[in-house]
Amino acid sequence: MIKHINVKSGARVDLIDITPEVEGLVKESGVQEGVCHLYVPHTTAGITINEGADPSVRRDIIHSLQGLVPRDAGYTHLEGNSDAHIKSSLLGASALVMIEQGRLQLGTWQSIFFCEFDGPRHRRVAVKIVAG
Ligand code: ZN
Repeated sequence: MIKHINVKSGARVDLIDITPEVEGLVKESGVQEGVCHLYVPHTTAGITINEGADPSVRRDIIHSLQGLVPRDAGYTHLEGNSDAHIKSSLLGASALVMIEQGRLQLGTWQSIFFCEFDGPRHRRVAVKIVAG
């Protein structure tokens, strides 16, 4: 069964730590050994796993992506949000974390971030937890 995490982004570009929500779903599932698949069903958002301990890393990622993919650069997409589509493709729409002894096997400094590139809006992340 697929579960969903609802995310409300607060800015046009925003990295939101969803680790506690994912951990909650793993606990609720009762799965001790397996994998947790995370999928973002949006074309202007993404997901990444990176350092959650120091918020400056999150800011640096956002700042660097904005430098790599400026908001306006002569894009042809009429909706005016091509930069968001490109950032979405750069980071990707899915992530996978292994589960052992009922816990996500994240590294000490790792957190799971929902990546908003065309907010603020309401979004969701699909979560599929598979035992095995
Ligand atoms: Zn668009």
